[in-house]
Amino acid sequence: MTSLALSPDVAASVLAEQQEAYAALQARDLSLDVTRGKPSPEQLDLSNALLALPGEGNVRDGGTDTRNYGGLMGSAALREIFAELLNVPVGQLLAGGNGSLTLMHNALTFATLFGVPGGERPWAKEETVRFVCPVPGYDRHFVLCEELGIEMITVPMTPEGPDAEAVAELVASDPTIKGMWVVPTHSNPDGATVSDDVARRLVSMPTAAPDFRIMWDNAYAVHHLTDVETPSADALGLAAEAGNPDRVLLFASTSKITFAGAGVSFLGASPANLDWFTKHLGVQSIGPDKVNHLRHALFFGDADGVRAHMRQHAEIIAPKFEAVEQILTERLGGTGVAEWTTPTGGYFVSLDVVPGTAARVIALAKEAGIALTPAGSTYPYGKDPLDGNIRLAPTMPPLEDVKVAMDGVATCVLLAAAEAALA
Ligand code: PMP
Repeated sequence: MTSLALSPDVAASVLAEQQEAYAALQARDLSLDVTRGKPSPEQLDLSNALLALPGEGNVRDGGTDTRNYGGLMGSAALREIFAELLNVPVGQLLAGGNGSLTLMHNALTFATLFGVPGGERPWAKEETVRFVCPVPGYDRHFVLCEELGIEMITVPMTPEGPDAEAVAELVASDPTIKGMWVVPTHSNPDGATVSDDVARRLVSMPTAAPDFRIMWDNAYAVHHLTDVETPSADALGLAAEAGNPDRVLLFASTSKITFAGAGVSFLGASPANLDWFTKHLGVQSIGPDKVNHLRHALFFGDADGVRAHMRQHAEIIAPKFEAVEQILTERLGGTGVAEWTTPTGGYFVSLDVVPGTAARVIALAKEAGIALTPAGSTYPYGKDPLDGNIRLAPTMPPLEDVKVAMDGVATCVLLAAAEAALA
């Protein structure tokens, strides 16, 4: 990526050409937003049947009256469905409220206040607590660490997930490193999926901290863009096999399956971790929204119901990803100024531009009415050391808007590259 640059020979002509293209872009007075990975209204419509479920009189989930308090582990029927999809034994899967980020926040807050199984003290009592953050990564993970005072150390992502050797080396000797983030399937933003080898290495590597945790955020476990269903490594199973059953906390949700604001979250964990988590969760809540759980269980029926539903999502969003690929290839292919991912699932395209120009590209796009994810947001503290990565999120806008936005982004990438070459 560091080799991305515009050849000085063509910089002057590219500058003139793209200045003209940029003026035309500005004249269009656009107002487009490709900042966040939100489902589009058409995607949300796929789940509208939920709005009429569970239906009056339909309040029981097995022996449970879903309207009442209790049932901290969540609906057995719904957990059954997602246990299969997430490859977690049903007894080790908790169904929670409407966002997995809340479960992640809880896990790290509980660790900070009370410590975790295998630890000697609450993390707050440690002088320093650090986390390994593969980059580029998900900004909300980083903000969560920052808020809790957890320092972040970066390692590079590879097409097989985090650079496992780099992680292993860091954690082997530094007891202040208490954990790491992993988005194992169709990762945010670069679409990589953790291979079995990398997963094995991460769950079995020796760690100086006895209470090391992998925050295995499988947000895109079933979010495939093609007919090929990329499998997720069985992190909990592999960790148990490696003798580190408590190392992995697995998170997922239906945010990008049903309703982003009214879905169901999941936590998969070892029995010891689940006991620990529910002990503290039970102080915070008398139980989750079981009516919503029942609604979801009835809506899907079984794991195949979820798979079929996800194929409908793919039909809506795959053309948007294809448009991104096509336009970036047409406009930027062979120019040497950009590289980007071609994801087979998930919600993002990761675009690398000439180092030192990402913030400029984003500012130019903004001036032209195209909102992109803020510069640096794929890095801890919002600081991309190379100022080279941009996250594109094409799912929310209509296809035509995605096309216009990508063409505009390509203009900004070329213009910024030409400016940098001539600076
Ligand atoms: N994890 C990742 C990697 C994500 O990309 C997102 C949504 N952008 C989330 C978690 C948020 O999940 P939830 O809606 O379940 O809180």
